[in-house]
Amino acid sequence: MPSRRGVFLVAFVLLLLAACTTSPTGRKQILLFPETQMAQMGAVAYQETKKSTPISKNSTSNSYVSCITNAITAKVEPDTEWEVTVFDSEQVNAFALPGGKIGVYSGLLDVAENQHQLAAVIGHEIAHVTARHGNARVSAATLTQAGLSAVQILAGSSSREKQQLLGLLGLGAQVGILLPYSRGQESESDILGLVYMASAGFDPRQSVQLWKNMAMASDAKAPPELLSTHPSSSTRIDELNRAMPDALIIYNKARSQGEKPNCKR
Ligand SMILES: [Zn+2]
Repeated sequence: MPSRRGVFLVAFVLLLLAACTTSPTGRKQILLFPETQMAQMGAVAYQETKKSTPISKNSTSNSYVSCITNAITAKVEPDTEWEVTVFDSEQVNAFALPGGKIGVYSGLLDVAENQHQLAAVIGHEIAHVTARHGNARVSAATLTQAGLSAVQILAGSSSREKQQLLGLLGLGAQVGILLPYSRGQESESDILGLVYMASAGFDPRQSVQLWKNMAMASDAKAPPELLSTHPSSSTRIDELNRAMPDALIIYNKARSQGEKPNCKR
């Protein structure tokens, strides 16, 4: 007769094996939560953010950001109900939540100088969603922290749990719980984001300029919030440049097929 503990251990290992999946670029990650549940968490976090941060009424900014987002999401997981909100805030930041809820802070429009650079950020954020990085982060926290259960997260009963959820979903800069994406997750989002922007007809080379602008802004007085949850390093630009030849092939093909977005500020 196996001990009760032994049975639990076997069940636990089986659960982990079942939950171990391969990401779009071939990374192994453990995803414990069904996507429907992650989308629910994303929706809760989105509502929280909409309650706590003013939404931009600037129609030019709104149509500019929607134009870019729609061009990209038309090429990415069309079954996802993508939604974008422009927040009226000086934060240099953007996020995308499980389930497809995207936020762009108006401060980002000063650092991302043109539609291609903003497409680089939005493509990168969307890639965190399609590669299920939110699920991987909440799953990892669930496995390592006994106190954090899926039910607690969804109920969001205490503000501490809510904040923890927001941090895990990449909204930490807002609530002061900085849980940066891992280097592997960042690389993956950079590579996928490059493909996404290029297939929508945005110039992938502008992604390099965008991260240079970010680095420049971080030398100034107030470093961009985006960098606190998306740590950058010198390797980021090297990796983007390495992926550029393939991205340019996708870009040129998209352009020749008439994908020529013209989103105006
Ligand atoms: Zn990122």
